[in-house]
Amino acid sequence: MTGAAGLKRAVCTTCLRAQSACICRWITPVSAQAHLLILQHPLEVGNAKNSARLLHLCVTGSVMATGEAFDAGVLDSLLHVDGRTPVLLYPATPDDAGLPAPPPMPALPADALRLVLLDATWRKSRKMLYLNPTLQRLPRLGLTDVAPSNYRIRKAHAPHQLSSLEAAAQALGQLERAPGRFSPLLDAFDGFVAQQAAYVHACTARSLASDASQSDEQGVNRLAGH
Ligand SMILES: [Zn+2]
Repeated sequence: MTGAAGLKRAVCTTCLRAQSACICRWITPVSAQAHLLILQHPLEVGNAKNSARLLHLCVTGSVMATGEAFDAGVLDSLLHVDGRTPVLLYPATPDDAGLPAPPPMPALPADALRLVLLDATWRKSRKMLYLNPTLQRLPRLGLTDVAPSNYRIRKAHAPHQLSSLEAAAQALGQLERAPGRFSPLLDAFDGFVAQQAAYVHACTARSLASDASQSDEQGVNRLAGH
């Protein structure tokens, strides 16, 4: 191989992806009454399918921090920076003896709340909850109140199978009692997913073409051997 692979790839400074895979065209600015705090697990940072950064770039004023076990002081300031009440987007876990029962959801309008989203696999989000007692003590918002009109959310088998972006769009709409208000986020997500699929398809096609040319070379070698 040549040394080209060792050259630094040009990276988009906004979405932090290679410029050839930039997702910035899908950024759709939306403002939400609730503030959004995204706590991203380190394993998700380089995951091409991860939707959290697109979510962060779309939702005005959202904050994204990466970590698994957060420094208590840092987490505290992220949660309480402007006096809003943080609520954790996470289902109830009545059968999990290792987690204390969370306080009830406060009866506050969306603009007094901070929605906290754990961007991780289901297993890792549980680990984040275990490792950060502050998060365990937050009231929880579950996605039980899924709007019947929202087919794409309903067709997911369980809330935790939604992408971070889809879950946040649903939760923000739930908090504002306006289920469809964040559908532009879902449209952005559709474009993002289509781009990822096309990218994988292109990579597969390149790989197949490379295999084919290697086969051709072998064919040529075989012919030359005769
Ligand atoms: Zn970009």
